[in-house]
Amino acid sequence: MRLSQLGEFGLIEAIARTTPKGSGVRIGIGDDAAWVSHPRQSSLITSDLLIEGIHFDLRWTTMFDLGYKTLAVNLSDIAAMGGISAYLMLSLGIPSHFDSKKIAEFYRGIHSLAARSGVTLIGGDTNIAPLFLACACVIGHPSKHPLTRSGAKTGDDIYVTGTLGDAALALQILQSKSKRAHGKTIGQLMQRHHRPTARLTAGSILAEKRVASAMIDISDGLIQDLGHICKASGVGAEISADDIPLSSAYRAVAGKDDLRYALSGGEDYELLFCAPHSHRDDIEKLQRRAKVSITRIGRCVASRAGISVIAASGKPMALDAPGHDHFKKSANNARRRRSA
Ligand SMILES: [Mg+2]
Repeated sequence: MRLSQLGEFGLIEAIARTTPKGSGVRIGIGDDAAWVSHPRQSSLITSDLLIEGIHFDLRWTTMFDLGYKTLAVNLSDIAAMGGISAYLMLSLGIPSHFDSKKIAEFYRGIHSLAARSGVTLIGGDTNIAPLFLACACVIGHPSKHPLTRSGAKTGDDIYVTGTLGDAALALQILQSKSKRAHGKTIGQLMQRHHRPTARLTAGSILAEKRVASAMIDISDGLIQDLGHICKASGVGAEISADDIPLSSAYRAVAGKDDLRYALSGGEDYELLFCAPHSHRDDIEKLQRRAKVSITRIGRCVASRAGISVIAASGKPMALDAPGHDHFKKSANNARRRRSA
């Protein structure tokens, strides 16, 4: 049905009908504001805005995947503080030519991840817009000791979960309309790009066990996001290029020596954290419970040393493109606009 026939209130009713009632929700969609319970006296709150043509391209992104990713990127921010996501507010700008089927597909993507993550949609807004845009806000419950970017100390180890660079490599393939865009290997890269996995369990265990000193999720590239930890903590960082975890698909397509996507590509949504040397055994053991690999990639050094990536030869690599910045026009941004 065309949205002009359904109308704003018809659309809201349709969204409310397909939204499960989650725990802790006293009043969800339909009143002036949502009313929810909090098991603790404080909350973690994050928001992300995704705009068509800047963050995603509907020529190669399905509405289901876009819904999934809209929630995933917000869950990743709560995971990066070690919290548990609980509630989602979602506001959409919808072009007039969209029909209700497309919007329903977007919400199916949202609900498929929400159900698995214990998150309930509790409200939001819808309006007409020249392009499709989605603004999500997730409210989460903090751990007793939320992890911030500012606790790293000189000498701490630096770790990442999972593997890096797959999502950015997939985007490069999509944008170049490469003939390689087929096959199982490419499919693995595309999966990482379209449906990123927020590391919810790893994040909450790291906070609960108090093994990490600082943490962030990698949304804008390893070097860029490591820079945020370094700045907030007042440390520098030395990364060993050989230790950066790459997937088999990445090795097959880009080769193990092309680290551009792993270092500066965005949208990995892996966790990057620091921890004292004395916690190495605990972190090793934690991998099984968190169901994700965790790799030590370097260490924190004095802040004056800045960030360096040391190649196998022992020499520092040139870092010309640190990662994504929405407002700075760098060669890197021009080459790779963040896009779902
Ligand atoms: Mg983040």
